[in-house]
Amino acid sequence: MQTPSETGSLDGEATSTNVHVPSEVDLPRIEKAVREILAAVGEDPDREGLLETPARVARMYAELFSGLHDDPRAHLQKFFTEKYDELVLVRDISFNSMCEHHMLPFSGKAHIGYVPNGRVVGLSKLARVVEVVSKRPQVQERMTETIANLLIEELDVKGVAVVIEATHSCMTIRGVRKPGSLCVTSAMKGLFRSNHSSRSEVMNLIYGG
Ligand SMILES: [Zn+2]
Repeated sequence: MQTPSETGSLDGEATSTNVHVPSEVDLPRIEKAVREILAAVGEDPDREGLLETPARVARMYAELFSGLHDDPRAHLQKFFTEKYDELVLVRDISFNSMCEHHMLPFSGKAHIGYVPNGRVVGLSKLARVVEVVSKRPQVQERMTETIANLLIEELDVKGVAVVIEATHSCMTIRGVRKPGSLCVTSAMKGLFRSNHSSRSEVMNLIYGG
């Protein structure tokens, strides 16, 4: 474990400078925009405490939106041919994303269940897919649908069930201010859509029933 003195700063500066910034990301442009927002809300961007803020926020956005420059399909190209045709479920894949309506974070867990059709991927690849898809300006409904479609298209699965549970800071710190509210979305495809007992099986496994 690192102490603040080892990282050299209390706010994680040492780690954030190590973030890989994709060449497509225009850091100076973000910095200019952040300065502009600070001035527009009535702050003084030249105040000592804010001097480094635009650069810091720019690097942070590069990290939070890194999924725009990564193809989730790339993580599903390496599969194994297996006769296994029962349910595979990966539960509790944690993620952080950014609500595209407010540019505020939403975070939670994704659960992905699928029934293979000869192609099985490493379990960590599903977590990689969640990571890439979540690191973009998002809405939870589309994120859920996108992950399900990727498995249909790349793995030709017999069925896929994606359930995402998340708390949205745009609902907790502003607007209606309802802390603790959980938003649940699901996408059921293939046999999970057509077959009631398959759907109950996967939901029971996700919720530990
Ligand atoms: Zn929002």
